[in-house]
Amino acid sequence: MHMLSLLADLPTTAAALTGDNQLQKIFEITAYLIAGALFILALKWLSAPTTARRGNFAGQIGMGLAIIGALLGHGLSYQWIIVGFVVGAAIGAPMAIWMPMTAVPQRTALSHAFGALAAALVGTAHYYLFFYNNAGLTENPPPTIMAMLSLEVLLGSLTFTGSLMAFGKLQDLLPTRPMVFPFQKTLNFTILGLAFLTGIILTIHPDMTWLFPILLTLAALFGILLIMPIGGADMPTVIALLNSYAGLSASMMGFVLNNKLLIIAGALDGASGLVLSIVMCKAMNRSFANVLFGAFGQVQAAAAGGEKRTVRSSTPEEAAQIMEAASSVIIIPGYGMAVAQAQHKVREMFDQLTKRGVDVKFAIHPVAGRMPGHMNVLLAEAEIPYDRLVEMDDINGEFPQCDVALVIGANDVVNPAARHDKNSPIYGMPILDADKAKTVMAIKRSMNPGFAGIENELYYADNCLMLFGDAKAVVGALAKELGENGH
Ligand code: NAP
Repeated sequence: MHMLSLLADLPTTAAALTGDNQLQKIFEITAYLIAGALFILALKWLSAPTTARRGNFAGQIGMGLAIIGALLGHGLSYQWIIVGFVVGAAIGAPMAIWMPMTAVPQRTALSHAFGALAAALVGTAHYYLFFYNNAGLTENPPPTIMAMLSLEVLLGSLTFTGSLMAFGKLQDLLPTRPMVFPFQKTLNFTILGLAFLTGIILTIHPDMTWLFPILLTLAALFGILLIMPIGGADMPTVIALLNSYAGLSASMMGFVLNNKLLIIAGALDGASGLVLSIVMCKAMNRSFANVLFGAFGQVQAAAAGGEKRTVRSSTPEEAAQIMEAASSVIIIPGYGMAVAQAQHKVREMFDQLTKRGVDVKFAIHPVAGRMPGHMNVLLAEAEIPYDRLVEMDDINGEFPQCDVALVIGANDVVNPAARHDKNSPIYGMPILDADKAKTVMAIKRSMNPGFAGIENELYYADNCLMLFGDAKAVVGALAKELGENGH
């Protein structure tokens, strides 16, 4: 709808203005229109590995055009904008270059914190400037604008503090365990309710300026309280939700500033963040309602297994021989492959196996690793053909016919307890049926648990062999064995 109104604006605006102004305005609207279309295409393309790079590029061009359109479309003085640009680039560039792939969740949290702070500050400045510029006037800002502005600062400041908390937990700067206390939910609801009430009063009586800092404070406090009960491990899901809040805040800012591109981009961001957090909740068997209200992630530590069980460990030589004799191998990558940066070695092993005519596929669990798409990105980086990457629902039926399931640094996503153990914290989480393969081989460094902190019964199964060691070293050794045996 806003894309159409951008189009409709063109002739009216052009007719109303003259000379340089007219050109500037036409340029701004055209840039916004193209940017809006590119944002939509970017989201569409980002949803499939084959087009994801194109999507990323389209998003960048769109954002570049949006910035240029905004800068040239108004008679601005540029010195402060240049200062902001330099400071922003000085913070953003090192973050992008030096933070490893495994730290992307916390990097995303920081980006949301900055974006949300910007939205809250713009809203605050807009509010106070209105009264400053109109000192002595009796007129108030219209209620619709005040409603949008209140929502903008409410969402902006709660996302700011919430994202900073999420960053602190993911980066181990704050205790990662869930922090809980009596009547926590009641307190959370009360503070959120009070923040909304303050926003409503400000909408009706915008001149009660003393209420504005209270709105900001209540929202900021709710952001902190929202994240407190969430364990560091469940944080990526909440980050997707905070992404959604930051987007909605930007969209509200678009209404307040009458900037249609901000409305479009914010709405896209808000909707995609929401969809992502719902998808992640489903894949991790969490309640979405609990995420919304900050009563999430209180996973009980699993009871320690009673009897002592033994596992069978194997060597890369033996494992390579088994794989050579196989006609189909399904590789299950997980967080350990990401930490070990083993994807290039995995590619070497994949090449060796396919050279021998073994059918090799990769089973991708929606939450393998620490963020959605984590495995796809790493495997794409190693140039594994996209058609070899198969989603969980499509590959699960193939495990019973498969000769070898090779688990590389994955743990929870292949734990059969999720299917039958009602007491397990991951009960109900959809898993990859690796245990149904004829032979399972699992690469990990020790018997330590994964993200959910629980033992994995798969390792004790009769058809499972353990390959202990760092994923990069073990897969490298497997590739070497296969290479040597091939000549
Ligand atoms: P996981 O359950 O965390 O297990 C990873 C395994 O990798 C560990 O058991 C660890 O065992 C091993 N490992 C670590 N470093 C290694 C290395 N250098 N070499 C070899 N192995 C190594 O991982 P997952 O199976 O991928 O499951 C992901 C988990 O994260 C799920 O519980 C999911 O719910 C959660 N999660 C995912 C997302 C998402 O969006 N993807 C978001 C939030 C939470 P050792 O220590 O013995 O080596």
